[in-house]
Amino acid sequence: MKTTLPQRPTTIINEAEINAILARARRSDAARIREVLAMAREMNGLDAEEVAVLMEIQDKVLLDEMFAAARFVKDQIYGNRLVLFAPLYIGNLCKNECSYCAFRLGNTELKRRTLTQEEIAAEVKILIDQGHKRLLLVSGEEYPKEGFNYVLKAIETIYRTKSGRGEIRRVNVNIAPLTVDQFKQLKGAGIGTYQLFQETYHRETYAKNHTAGAKKDFDWRLTVMDRAMEAGIDDVGIGVLLGLYDWKFEMLAMQQHIHHMEERFGVGPHTISVPRIEPAIGSTLAERPPHAVSDGDFMKIVAILRLAVPYTGIIMSTRENAETRRATFELGVSQISAGSRSNPGGYGDHGDGHDAEQFQLGDHRSLDEVVRDVASLGYTPSFCTACYRLGRTGADFMDLAKPGLIKAHCSPNALSSCMEYLMDYATPGTKQAGEELVNRELAAMPGDIGKTACDLVSRVRKTERDVFV
Ligand code: SAM
Ligand code: SF4
Repeated sequence: MKTTLPQRPTTIINEAEINAILARARRSDAARIREVLAMAREMNGLDAEEVAVLMEIQDKVLLDEMFAAARFVKDQIYGNRLVLFAPLYIGNLCKNECSYCAFRLGNTELKRRTLTQEEIAAEVKILIDQGHKRLLLVSGEEYPKEGFNYVLKAIETIYRTKSGRGEIRRVNVNIAPLTVDQFKQLKGAGIGTYQLFQETYHRETYAKNHTAGAKKDFDWRLTVMDRAMEAGIDDVGIGVLLGLYDWKFEMLAMQQHIHHMEERFGVGPHTISVPRIEPAIGSTLAERPPHAVSDGDFMKIVAILRLAVPYTGIIMSTRENAETRRATFELGVSQISAGSRSNPGGYGDHGDGHDAEQFQLGDHRSLDEVVRDVASLGYTPSFCTACYRLGRTGADFMDLAKPGLIKAHCSPNALSSCMEYLMDYATPGTKQAGEELVNRELAAMPGDIGKTACDLVSRVRKTERDVFV
């Protein structure tokens, strides 16, 4: 039940302004594009006009220059770390009708299931035994009779479940919009990031694709991060479901949303996700999305986001195949899921397999295979959860991130959490690839940061666990 009603319609998104900016940007020449790229390299972010200029790039030489700028920013701010997580689907019942989703109310082809707390614990144990430390709890918008308390209990179950020396140290959630009071309870349950995708910021397209249930209300969804932040959740994640409407419109609308958050709360989103619509059982739209985003445009989107909001993490899920995922790492992605299932019970008893999943996955590799691949490509697989556990969230995180101070924490923590994974969970081939990477990184890390990293890694090599700075 909604207790806080937003003013409606909200003025967060100004469609006329977006269309005017898009029209002006079509007239950009190479000189203007290079001017924007030079600004982007200063790592102070870009405004909507500048983002629009970059979106118009077609020329191969200019495109390469933009990718080079994105690689530069990614490298300066994030180095070669990639944070790993897994989604945990606790239920696929839903009262909404989203045209693209297999969980939608009217889909009779889907096998429905809500996990009990015991089943959730069993799934979590499997994920811990694979080596995961971060989970993203996901659900359709219908809970068993205890309502929202079911979600709170699930979070408690996840944190309580232990296996061997492992545990889940950060639970992020992607669940339907809540009231301020419910968000306060979610914060009390110890969540990391609250994540929700607007799907499309285009009001008319939104109405066409969301035809039943609470999700019909565009404004209730658009104001969700305001309520989360009012409730004290300062790490929030946003996103657009790419394929519903023109991606260029969505990018500028997202800029307006970010601008609104920064103005009102002094901090923008902690992460941005870039889901592309994938085939889903019982959805003809998902077979052929009306504004399907090509692989080329997808790379552009990642690179432009990296330049526009340099300090906001970019999340790449297993919707994408291994090749596409690899190509986006250097352009700006900082977090990836691995070994994922999108059906409740999918890790353990296989939860009715494809008949219960939300959408088809593009990357079916195990966490171990992804870690080996990532390490072989020269990236450090990180399982770090230090920031949120030390209260380095929201504006406090940005205060460290913007002057580049966060690297002093992230680089050593990435290596120590990676070493923990290698010692406790990796297969021999992955362990070897990972150890080579850690040794190389330690040798190259300068001064005090290098010393801190060596100390943390050697403590893990002896027997300590969960060490971080
Ligand atoms: N039910 C809540 C909601 O809709 O916000 C939260 C969980 S929902 C399972 C998570 C996200 O999955 C949605 O926001 C949507 O963007 C994405 N999704 C749904 N169907 C998809 C599809 N066919 N391909 C890719 N992503 C999809
Ligand atoms: Fe339900 Fe979310 Fe799927 Fe929509 S996207 S049908 S709200 S689970």
